[in-house]
Amino acid sequence: MSLLKVSGLKVAYGGIQAVRGIDFHVDEGELICLIGANGAGKSSTLKGLMGLVKPHGDVQFAGERLHKLPTHAIAARGMALVPEGRGIFGRLTVAENLDMGAYLRNDREGIRADLARVYHLFPRLIERCKQLAGTLSGGEQQMLAIARALMGRPRLLLLDEPSMGLAPLMVQKIYETIGMIAAEGVTILLVEQNANLALQVSHRAYVMESGEITLSGASDELAKDSQVRAAYLGD
Ligand code: ATP
Repeated sequence: MSLLKVSGLKVAYGGIQAVRGIDFHVDEGELICLIGANGAGKSSTLKGLMGLVKPHGDVQFAGERLHKLPTHAIAARGMALVPEGRGIFGRLTVAENLDMGAYLRNDREGIRADLARVYHLFPRLIERCKQLAGTLSGGEQQMLAIARALMGRPRLLLLDEPSMGLAPLMVQKIYETIGMIAAEGVTILLVEQNANLALQVSHRAYVMESGEITLSGASDELAKDSQVRAAYLGD
């Protein structure tokens, strides 16, 4: 059974139809990417799933219909979004941001173990643990945003453009870590404009154009597809 099953998802802003009735699924343990140009509707899809914008259609998560649930209730069911722009608390320290990520939990031992795990994944964050998050570099803030989401032990991690605005070396580092997180068994839905990177790291992919899914398949197959190569891989 799929962890996430989406049927006929629509998102509109007034008269603008950003997402026009899309179907996709994410199985437990998969790393799935949604690629497409700027404005294709990728971020709106994630916001719709998380209840940050009002979606229409059917979203089944962990066997339950999420219809009309508020964002906090969706988060409590194990969905976590790392938004574009990261959304960290700039006036709190790195360690305080990570504490905030575990706010729905009270299993002290588990939280301690997960803190060790995220510091292992992102050693840079240990060095910076007492620093105010707002003073970190963009790449470090992205690391912190992912680490904070992991502190909630999500069943599904939604990542919106983690490479956005970062230097190539940092992008590579973030993607290596995303691969490690997936290898640990965390289910991930990744949104990326950088199709090359996303197709390298993911199992399957969906291509979005003007609010619709126009292609889908195994990422290694799509990376060879002439249409995808021409539109998204710079051929
Ligand atoms: P990006 O990579 O730029 O985030 P995207 O594929 O994630 O692109 P969305 O951000 O989902 O695309 O935007 C899809 C469409 O919805 C675009 O036409 C955009 O202008 C519009 N849109 C997005 N957010 C809003 C909003 N808050 N109000 C009105 N229109 C919006």
